[in-house]
Amino acid sequence: MTRGRRKVAVVAGGAGFLGSHLCDALLGRSWDVICVDSFRTGRKQNILHLEHEPRFDLLEADVIEFRPGQILRGGTRVDAVFNLACAASPPHYQADPEHTLLTCVLGTRNLLQLAERAGAGFLLASTSEVYGDPEVHPQAESYWGNVNPCGPRACYDEGKRAAETLAFDYARAGRAQVRVARIFNTYGPRMRPDDGRIVSNAVTQALAGDPITIYGDGSQTRSFCYVDDLVEGLCRLAASDAPLRGAVNLGNPEELTVAELAERVVALTGSTSAIVRRPLPVDDPRRRRPDIAVARELLGWQPRVGLEAGLRSTIAWFMQERHWAMAMRAA
Ligand code: NAD
Repeated sequence: MTRGRRKVAVVAGGAGFLGSHLCDALLGRSWDVICVDSFRTGRKQNILHLEHEPRFDLLEADVIEFRPGQILRGGTRVDAVFNLACAASPPHYQADPEHTLLTCVLGTRNLLQLAERAGAGFLLASTSEVYGDPEVHPQAESYWGNVNPCGPRACYDEGKRAAETLAFDYARAGRAQVRVARIFNTYGPRMRPDDGRIVSNAVTQALAGDPITIYGDGSQTRSFCYVDDLVEGLCRLAASDAPLRGAVNLGNPEELTVAELAERVVALTGSTSAIVRRPLPVDDPRRRRPDIAVARELLGWQPRVGLEAGLRSTIAWFMQERHWAMAMRAA
């Protein structure tokens, strides 16, 4: 893999929902992209359109085992490392909690070593889950969080907290230039239908005419960011040379209850689905809304896509997926 003068980005988790959009955005900004993915939750179809793209390479590897030499041998230069490798949906990351925790910690360490050896910038995709079930609302980066370290979500929440710690230790020691994005709930095309969270559940159930599942009484709130906005935020954060002050929240501050979200989906799909309630999962956060003052000031960033436009394009994409899946079954 020897390349010309274009910048090279490694995107770990590049076959996933956010990662595949980030690969597209970087290619669109004239970067070469090396995607590192184990396809644990990512899908080949997310990057199928890049199969014949000469500026895109795929390294199928688990970041827990990954060694920088797998990319650097042969003289490949790397300018930026984006670490998005980790299942993001609770059913997926809880299916193998040990693997999730090790992905966060060892995967981040291995990718930081890549950035250090290559002299590349490093961006960690952290999460609003580091705030746990927050006692402060909305959540600013200065809030240290309220995470249960022993619960079923801890493999992810604490894994990401430890990943942030590692990243900032590398930064303090001058070993890598580090950026940490705390991403709040993001939705859009290429989400998995079995993602298990409210947007994909509501849309797939509404389109199938099935009852829409809401956990708890539906009064818990979330803030939903459209994927294009989020990816723009990640690109701006990676490109920013502002002095590092800590992690940066990226998300949409428009807050609504999950019941309201389900009702909007029903209205936009024209579905006749009823809403059914199931018990609230353990440690499910009650409220979530990002304070994005830092991203506004540092990056001049704020979300642009409203909920209705974002939901419309997400619904259109899930409809296409359904037709495709039905055609495959019939063939
Ligand atoms: P995703 O599950 O679609 O993507 C994760 C990708 O990482 C997948 O392609 C998966 O195969 C890959 N992966 C997982 N473990 C791996 C391992 N050990 N080695 C190599 N590859 C591995 O999830 P997503 O929604 O695209 O999330 C991407 C990142 O953003 C994650 O780090 C997640 O924690 C973070 N994030 C996402 C959201 C969201 O709302 N989607 C919110 C907060 C944070």
